[in-house]
Amino acid sequence: MELINLKTPSMEGKIYIGADVIQTRLPALMKGQTNFVVTDSNVYVLYAAWFEKYFSDTEIFVLEAGEENKNFASLQAILEKMAGAGLRRTSRLFAVGGGVVGDIGGLAAALYMRGISCVQIPTTLLSQVDSSVGGKTAVDLGGVKNIVGAFYQPCEVLVDPTFLQTLPQREIKCGVGEIVKYAALNAEIFDLLKENTDKLSDLAFLTKLITACIQHKANVVAMDEKETGERRSLNVGHTTGHAIELFYGLSHGESVLYGMSLETKLAIESGVCEKEYGENLLAIVAAALALEPNAKTDFSSIVQASEKARLDKKNTDDGEIKMSVAKSKGAWTTLSLPFANYQAALIKAVKN
Ligand code: NAD
Repeated sequence: MELINLKTPSMEGKIYIGADVIQTRLPALMKGQTNFVVTDSNVYVLYAAWFEKYFSDTEIFVLEAGEENKNFASLQAILEKMAGAGLRRTSRLFAVGGGVVGDIGGLAAALYMRGISCVQIPTTLLSQVDSSVGGKTAVDLGGVKNIVGAFYQPCEVLVDPTFLQTLPQREIKCGVGEIVKYAALNAEIFDLLKENTDKLSDLAFLTKLITACIQHKANVVAMDEKETGERRSLNVGHTTGHAIELFYGLSHGESVLYGMSLETKLAIESGVCEKEYGENLLAIVAAALALEPNAKTDFSSIVQASEKARLDKKNTDDGEIKMSVAKSKGAWTTLSLPFANYQAALIKAVKN
């Protein structure tokens, strides 16, 4: 079992990683207070025996699986169930599932009685390498991703890679999307992926990267919890990625991969990303996009899709589109383009 400490101004949290984390940490975390679980319908069915073993006496909210349920109505239903279960300020919420469960469960924990203790137990590759760490919680509203949320750190994150054994290939590909993001920010992860593009669907290889990705994220969040500076780096590929996710309805991870591909091309074209390095990064992104399931997306309507980038939370009142982009190995920068230039560059980028 590995331990990463994450110290931020708001909380000192612990992240445990390993196949033994559940049996080692969960019983102790459940003692001494009323507990509450948020999970989703797929995880609840797949892990029925696991829930029976650890949470048989605990109230469980089962969210219908899917991003479309990361909304206010579900959040209200969770909060109502928490109140109905008589939770107090001293109670603890366990979010067991992928990024959707982690985001909405974490937000419910942040809001209930102005904040109760939260433990994240991520069960997808994406949530293990990324979303369960760092305390960003949110729901979507009016077609905008994560527009209502809070920074709220979990006291512990229990990362058990054995959950990944039941994960469909499509979801592995989503997690690879966020891992490739780390390659754009971290030289060690970049080198590992560059030398092993043939192993991107190999669970054993990916599992080895979990600790490195979490360590990178923990370092960034410790420096900048509220995303006023360095934490913006973690949005590499996400401005265009979110626009694609919203417009085309693709998964988050796959959208991030497309976003990284297009934004890296924009960054090379604008001269802010070193050409040779950028092309190596594009090769890694292409290998990840080629993973199954690989239904080719038709980007002929990229102009309409790009409108969604106007809604991005990083934008300011100057009307420019702000992107965090790869610069050189292990380094990133901000690329800010007037909307018309951004659109024109995207049209060019989808063609090559
Ligand atoms: P998800 O939570 O929808 O999970 C994907 C699918 O996998 C779901 O159908 C789920 O039921 C299923 N699943 C979960 N665990 C499983 C398991 N062990 N075996 C089989 N199936 C399983 O999606 P996700 O990709 O985990 O997360 C995406 C979400 O995370 C998005 O809403 C995104 O905005 C958010 N996100 C948040 C942050 C953050 O910092 N908070 C960072 C990145 C992404």
